[in-house]
Amino acid sequence: MKTISCTRVSFICPICNATYDIFLRKQPQLMMIHCPSCKKFVSFYNGEFHIFNQITVSKIKSIKNKRDAIAVINDINEQIKFSNRSAITSDDVINLKIALGQSKTFTDVMNVICKK
Ligand SMILES: [Zn+2]
Repeated sequence: MKTISCTRVSFICPICNATYDIFLRKQPQLMMIHCPSCKKFVSFYNGEFHIFNQITVSKIKSIKNKRDAIAVINDINEQIKFSNRSAITSDDVINLKIALGQSKTFTDVMNVICKK
C-alpha cells in the first residue's frame, strides 16, 4: 500500500477566531475557504489573511491551467506590494517638486519618477 505524506496546515479564522487544522499534500500558497464556524469567506496567501477584491476572486475561480494560476499569483503579488506601500506624506510631495524643479533633461525626470 502506498502512503501519501500530508502536511498539517493550521489556520485561525480572522473573523471568528475559530482554529482549524487541515491536511494537504503540501502547504498551499493560496487557500480560500468558507469558515465552517462563521460561514464567512476567508482567503490566505502564503499563510497570511488577505481580502481580495471581486475581480481577483473571479480570476481565481476561473483558473483553468497552470498559466492562469501563475498570472493570478503575479496579480496578487502586485496587489500586496501596492497595499503595503507606505502613505505619501506632504514632505514626499515637496521633495518630488524640488527634484523635478532641479531636473534639466528627460532622463533626470525619469530618474526622479522611477526612483525606488
Ligand atoms: Zn470564522
